[in-house]
Amino acid sequence: MSTERFIELDETYSAHNYHPLPVVAASAQGAWITDVLGDTYLDMLAGYSALNFGHGHPRLVAALTRQLSQVALTSRVVHNDQLGLFSQELAELCGKEMVLPMNTGAEAVETALKLARKWAYEKRGVAPGEAKIIVMGRNFHGRTISIVSFSSDPDASGNFAPYTPGFYWVPFGEFEVLAALVQTLAEQNQLAGVLLEPIQGEAGVILPPDGYLSQVRALCTQYQVLMMADEIQSGLGRTGFTFACDAEDVSPDVYILGKALGGGLLP
Ligand code: PLP
Repeated sequence: MSTERFIELDETYSAHNYHPLPVVAASAQGAWITDVLGDTYLDMLAGYSALNFGHGHPRLVAALTRQLSQVALTSRVVHNDQLGLFSQELAELCGKEMVLPMNTGAEAVETALKLARKWAYEKRGVAPGEAKIIVMGRNFHGRTISIVSFSSDPDASGNFAPYTPGFYWVPFGEFEVLAALVQTLAEQNQLAGVLLEPIQGEAGVILPPDGYLSQVRALCTQYQVLMMADEIQSGLGRTGFTFACDAEDVSPDVYILGKALGGGLLP
């Protein structure tokens, strides 16, 4: 089939939520994509971080193939011989006590929001229904209803109302504005935590000012609220550090991971 025909099929049967380049990939290896015409392209986007290890990394493909032929899926009604090992390795990589695997980045963010709210009610004594979470302007955390509810981008949130309440946003990188809101909400005992991308991805790869992540860490510690770092795009080697927070020796209370965590093979 021609390039045009593949694109026409996409346009006809697949929802128009993206605007891809007019290239039809047929195979890929490492940093290279080959299209249906046999032309090769150097892939410098790495699937927005889903492909930090490159396309079809041979060790990852071998491990996945081996596992698929052994057992592909179990329910949580039984244990399996991989979940504990995976969880231990990931927890140790993050320096955290536990992990909770989900299926997509957005779901991971939703889970962190649920965790923060539950923690606020059960551990911090926030009154029922009052837990607030502070997010950053121009954030991108996914496309579920709650997540687009606190997006400052009308393209992401438009026509999806009514929105989930309980979120406030402040400008990314402006520490004084954040500090004032944290103080106000914490003093009213309404704050569960702060959610941020250590480097904003979809907003255009926006780095925070030097020292900002350490300041946010210290602020969250001071007011005993959770610092949640969405490292779905910035983490797992993307910046040269394991996590972007490592650049300032910051350990958030919660890491939210995705993309490269699936090795470029699975969500
Ligand atoms: N958080 C960040 C920082 C992202 O860049 C993305 C996706 O681009 C997500 C969350 C959502 O991840 P997913 O597309 O796997 O739901």
